[in-house]
Amino acid sequence: TPEAALVDSLIASIPDFPEHGVTFRDLTPVFADGAALKALSTALTAPFEGRFEYLGGLEARGFLIAGAASIVTGAGVLSVRKAGKLPRAVLSQEYSLEYGVAALEVHVDQLPVGSRVLIVDDVLATGGTALAAANLMERAGWHVTGFAVALELDGLGGRAKLEDRGIETFSLLQY
Ligand code: 5GP
Repeated sequence: TPEAALVDSLIASIPDFPEHGVTFRDLTPVFADGAALKALSTALTAPFEGRFEYLGGLEARGFLIAGAASIVTGAGVLSVRKAGKLPRAVLSQEYSLEYGVAALEVHVDQLPVGSRVLIVDDVLATGGTALAAANLMERAGWHVTGFAVALELDGLGGRAKLEDRGIETFSLLQY
């Protein structure tokens, strides 16, 4: 699609970042291009049209996509934050990183029970982050409509991890 081609043309690939042997996919040029950010927001939400009231943005790059997609769709943004940032009572979900653990958090009473949330982020790798977010939604009593991501890295098992849990997954690009 033209949207995919535009976004693809702006993704920068950085060898050996953050460590030797890893190629980091940098989407900041996509976010810096207004037409591309709008095209990305439209493309990620269209497959789920009419099936969500909220966009769950994963800190920090997911916030950028969720905010832009909010204007495109009229859906509100749920802030899914890293541990220790939210000021009110939270639900917390830990997940494993290559070294150690991290946690995502939401305000426990942020949305009405039964709210339908489309989770969005920039990159899907192992799926650990997206799965933690989905677990949080379910524990809070919210329905996960699906997971939409700009770029899916093949061969790391992310899609399988999500689909095993019944989470519909859409990626605009696959590397
Ligand atoms: P996962 O939990 O699927 O292994 O990793 C996905 C999370 O790590 C996402 O929140 C994503 O922003 C970040 N991430 C992992 N690899 C990359 C990458 O190459 N580029 C960018 N921009 N983010 C990455």
